[in-house]
Amino acid sequence: MASSRVPPGPAGGTSPDPRASVKRVGVLSLQGDFAAHGAALERAGAEPVYVREREQLDTIDGLILPGGESTTMLKLMRYEGLYDSVAAFGRSKPVFGTCAGAILMAKQVTNPAQESFGLVDIAIERNAYGRQIDSRVAELDPAAEFQQRTAPGKLEAVFIRAPIIRHVNGGVKVLAEYDGDPVLIEQGRHLVATFHPELTVDPRVHKLFLEKL
Ligand code: GLN
Repeated sequence: MASSRVPPGPAGGTSPDPRASVKRVGVLSLQGDFAAHGAALERAGAEPVYVREREQLDTIDGLILPGGESTTMLKLMRYEGLYDSVAAFGRSKPVFGTCAGAILMAKQVTNPAQESFGLVDIAIERNAYGRQIDSRVAELDPAAEFQQRTAPGKLEAVFIRAPIIRHVNGGVKVLAEYDGDPVLIEQGRHLVATFHPELTVDPRVHKLFLEKL
């Protein structure tokens, strides 16, 4: 709303008032590591909104589905009457899913099969790294395009009982791989990571999402 915008630039200042362009980004906050996403959004220069009620979806420019337990998040979204609203939000606004959030966004989920929003045309397998080596920190060499759109350099990736993207269909762009599997992808306005960019200090992945809003 133009009337509620902060006018740019303090009188005599050299740079525009940063509040004028601060983006409000929702983080689904029913379960999982939503607080870490909130902190990461602040580091990337956005204002987090911890979404627990449908009405909050009307006040945000984009939405993050965090890591946690996708099955539990599904149950809680149904219980809170949020499932259909989040699905509708994703049909017109950008959504960024990490780990469990990535599972919720996929078109097809296996191990076991479960319902999902189908916002990105990928097939994903839950807990696909197995129990013995289910968590790790890896150094990724992201695609040139990712580095051009953000900043150059390797990307530290924390995987926690992560899924593996087994298949990407046309229209999906792979922005980083680990061990030959896509781990950061985008399709149109949506972004998906099977790792946890909110747990490292590098703000590039969240900044990339903010660019899409
Ligand atoms: N294993 C979880 C699931 O299947 C995802 C783990 C995570 O988000 N760190 O939902």
